[in-house]
Amino acid sequence: LLDVKHLHKEFDNNVVLKDINLSVKKGEVVVIIGPSGCGKSTFLRCLNGLEEIQSGVIRVDGLEVNPKNKDIVKLRQKIGMVFQSYELFPHLSVIDNLIIAPMKVQKRKREEVTKEALKLLDRVDLLDKKDMYPRQLSGGQKQRVAIVRALLVHPEIILFDEVTAALDPEMVYEVLETMQELARQGSTMIIVTHEMNFAKAVADKIIFFDKGEIVEETDDVEGFFASPKTERAAKFLDRFQ
Ligand code: ATP
Ligand code: MG
Repeated sequence: LLDVKHLHKEFDNNVVLKDINLSVKKGEVVVIIGPSGCGKSTFLRCLNGLEEIQSGVIRVDGLEVNPKNKDIVKLRQKIGMVFQSYELFPHLSVIDNLIIAPMKVQKRKREEVTKEALKLLDRVDLLDKKDMYPRQLSGGQKQRVAIVRALLVHPEIILFDEVTAALDPEMVYEVLETMQELARQGSTMIIVTHEMNFAKAVADKIIFFDKGEIVEETDDVEGFFASPKTERAAKFLDRFQ
């Protein structure tokens, strides 16, 4: 479903991603971990066509990702993203935040999208907040709205960039629970997180990034957390013990 080959990315001659190769199958949950500044967010942004890349190829469902590609609108429907900072429209109510993209971009009917939006809101226990504005919601509630918004577009893959990093500890759980539910339903997800217990519970594959490179990649999630193969990953995990 997602195929990355020899991805190379620089910011003004500063190499941020070096020869990244990755394949993600349908239904797979890939968790990316690694130290601050190692390139995790930049990698997700490249996957979503938000960053130009210097070389390499990224394909989603056969479609090449390239910010200059005219198909970028089509691409965004295949690959959704949820950010740490929610990025909800402050002047729109919850329900309007949810239905705007499916209506404007995908030309779906208001009635049909609204019905689906309400169903999803109910699933994350936010049906009673549908007419509220983002400023009237807690961080955890805003983040669940942002996740529902990404889901409504029916993307093939959803990218999550440290979506719980800005939340108070008691709200982290409800957001992680929502994501775990998506994983159980077979959604294809790529998740950047510093929540190691969550990573262990949800991942089919762990990618350990350091200094712009994939240092370790494994389907043996238990094994990785018990005894990583590389010194660098071991040192990183030590900080979470
Ligand atoms: P964190 O865990 O702190 O979120 P990260 O792994 O997500 O870190 P990135 O945000 O991808 O790291 O940053 C990787 C490197 O790229 C950093 O050295 C950063 O300074 C650099 N970088 C990121 N965005 C830009 C930009 N727009 N212009 C120039 N350099 C950038
Ligand atoms: Mg980041």
